[in-house]
Amino acid sequence: MKPLQEMSVAELEKAIRRHNDLYFKQAKPEISDEEFDLLVERLKRLKADSPVLEEVGSDLSEGSGKKVLHSTPMLSLDKCYTVEDLADWASKLKGDVVVSPKIDGLAIAIHYDETGRLFRSETRGDGTKGDDITQNVREVGDVPERLAKGPIEVRGEIYMRLSVFKKKYQDNFANPRNLAAGALKQKDPKKTAEYSLNFFAYELIGMDLKEEIEKIRHLKKLGFTTIDTEVVPNQPEKLQAAYEEYFKKRDSLDYELDGVVYKANQIEDQTRLGASSHHPRWAIAYKFQGDAAQSVLREVEWSVSRTGVITPIGIIDPTRLSGASVSRVSLHNYGLMKNMGVSIGAKVLVMRRGGVIPNLEEVLEKTKKIVEAPKKCPSCGSPTEVRDDFLFCTNGKGCRSTRLGELRHFVDVLEIEGFGDKMIEQLYDTGYVEDLPDFFRLKRDDLLSLERVGEILADKLIAQIQAHRTVPLPLFLRSLGIPELGKHSSEVLTKQLRRLEKIREASEEELSAIHTIGPVIAREVVNGLREKSGTVDKLLQFVTLDERSLAKEGKFSGKTFLFTGKMAAMERGAAEKQVEALGGEISGGVTKDLDYLVIGSEGYKNRDKGNKWIKAESLMQKGAAIKILSEEEFLQMLESSPD
Ligand SMILES: [Zn+2]
Repeated sequence: MKPLQEMSVAELEKAIRRHNDLYFKQAKPEISDEEFDLLVERLKRLKADSPVLEEVGSDLSEGSGKKVLHSTPMLSLDKCYTVEDLADWASKLKGDVVVSPKIDGLAIAIHYDETGRLFRSETRGDGTKGDDITQNVREVGDVPERLAKGPIEVRGEIYMRLSVFKKKYQDNFANPRNLAAGALKQKDPKKTAEYSLNFFAYELIGMDLKEEIEKIRHLKKLGFTTIDTEVVPNQPEKLQAAYEEYFKKRDSLDYELDGVVYKANQIEDQTRLGASSHHPRWAIAYKFQGDAAQSVLREVEWSVSRTGVITPIGIIDPTRLSGASVSRVSLHNYGLMKNMGVSIGAKVLVMRRGGVIPNLEEVLEKTKKIVEAPKKCPSCGSPTEVRDDFLFCTNGKGCRSTRLGELRHFVDVLEIEGFGDKMIEQLYDTGYVEDLPDFFRLKRDDLLSLERVGEILADKLIAQIQAHRTVPLPLFLRSLGIPELGKHSSEVLTKQLRRLEKIREASEEELSAIHTIGPVIAREVVNGLREKSGTVDKLLQFVTLDERSLAKEGKFSGKTFLFTGKMAAMERGAAEKQVEALGGEISGGVTKDLDYLVIGSEGYKNRDKGNKWIKAESLMQKGAAIKILSEEEFLQMLESSPD
C-alpha cells in the first residue's frame, strides 16, 4: 500500500472498501485494525461525507443472499482509550452505569414470534440491514429455539470459545473472531454446527423496562447465556476500577475480550441521549491497550529522593508492557508496599498507567519473604524513620542523596543539558556545586579539573548554563524542589499572583484560598519558600525571571508535546500549531518533563525506534511520566471534546 499521505481520496475509498470487505465479509484481514482505522481517519479528514465511511464496519455480503431490514438500527459502539474520555462520556448521564466485558465477536439479532418460536436471525450487516442467518443460528449451542413467551427480539454476540479455538483451529487460523464470522456464514448450516459457536445475549427489544440491568435479568430468565454485567455508581474511580477488574480477569476467561462496555443503566438516560448516525450516545467501549502483565518480584531497591523520602523500587523478571521491556516498577511508598504484602518471589500484577513508570498493582501470590524497611539510609547511613506512610532519612539536608537529588531536579526542570548523574556527583563531592546558585558560578577551569571533562565539553556546559539565565516564573518555582510545588501548583500560583515577590509574601491562608491549592500545598509552599529564601535570593543574582502570564488556555494547557517521524495525516508544523492553539507547548527535546512524544504513523507501525523514542523509553524506565502516542492516538486527542 502507498504511504497514507500520498493517497488520493479515490485511492483511500478503494482501499477502505477492500479492507473492510476482507475483514468483515470474508474474515481474512490483510492489515491490522490500527492500520485500517488510520485509513478511515485520513478519509474522514479529507472527505468527511464520503459514502464509503457509511459502509465501514459493514459485514453485509454482496450477491444474492437474503437481506433483512433491522427493526431498529444496529449501531456500533463508540470507543475511548483513556479514563478521562470515559469520565467525559459518563458526565452526560444522570443515573448509574452498567458495565460488561466487550467480547470480540459478531453482533447478531434473533427474533421470536408471539408463541416464542425463533423465526428469524440476521447479522449486523451495515447497521440498517443484515444477512439472513436464521438456519445457521439454530446450530449455535446456546441459542434457544423456543422461549416461554414472545414476541421478542434478542441481540448479542456470536463468538468462539478460546478453548475450542486453541484445541482445534489455532494452527490454521489467525484469530477466533474471524473464524467465527466465517463459520456463521457457511452455506450449509450443518457446517456451522461443526464449529461449536456460542452466543452471549445483551439486548432485549420488545419489553418496556426502566433499567438496562433488567434486560439482563429477563434474558437469563428466558434461558439465554448473558454477559457478566454489573451496575456501577457513576464515579470515575468506580468506572476505572471496573475496567481494571476485567483487565485482571482477562487471561482466565474462555473468550477474547478487547475492552469493557459502559452503558447508561437508566433507560431514561438512553432515551434522552439518543444516537448519532454511527453510535448510540448512551454507550461506549473502553478499549484495552496491552498495558498490564504478570511477573515475579525478585528484589526491592531503596532510593533516596531529593526530599529525603526513601522510596522502594521493585525489580521484576523482565516483562513486556505496551511494547517495551520492563524490569523496574514503582512500589509507591513504604506504607502501601507493606499493606500490599510485597514479598520476594511473589507473583505480581504490574500495570502502566498514563505512561509513568509501571506500578506494582497487586500481589497475586505472596511468599514468606516479606520485605522490611532498611534501618539505615542507603545513601548516608543515618537512621531512618517512618512518618505516615513514608520512610525518611533523618539526616535531612545533610544526606548526600537528598542534595544530589535537588541539584539533579534543578538542571532537569530548567533543561540545562549535559549534566548527567556522574557529573553532578563529581561537582558536589569536589565542592564546586553544593547549592543551586553554584551552577551559575561554575568556571571553565572548575569543570576542566573534573574527570573526563575536556575543553569542548567544558565550553558546552558553560554555554548551557548561560543560556538558561532567563527563566519563566513557573519553571523557576518548580526548580526549587519544594515539596508540593510541582508543575501544577507552580503554574496556578503564577497565574494567580503573577510575581515571585507576591508569592513569597503570601500567607498560608491566602494560598490555600486559591482554587486547587488547598491547605496542605499552601503549608508546604510557604515553609519551603521560607527555608529556601537564601537560595532564592542568591539565584536571583544570576537569573532573570520571565513573569509574563502563561500560554493560552486550552485542553492542552500545561502539557508539552514533541513530534518525531513522518506524520501521515498532516505536516508536523500543522500538528504543532494545533497543539499550541489548544494551549500546549512544543518541547525542544526529550526530557523527563515531556508529557507526550508523538510518533508518526509509519514509524509507529514499524516500531522503527529513533533516538527520541529510545531516549523517552529510557527516561520512562527511570520514572519520567512521558506518554508515547501513535499519530492516531494524537488525532483522537485532538478530536476529543475539551472537557
Ligand atoms: Zn540519608
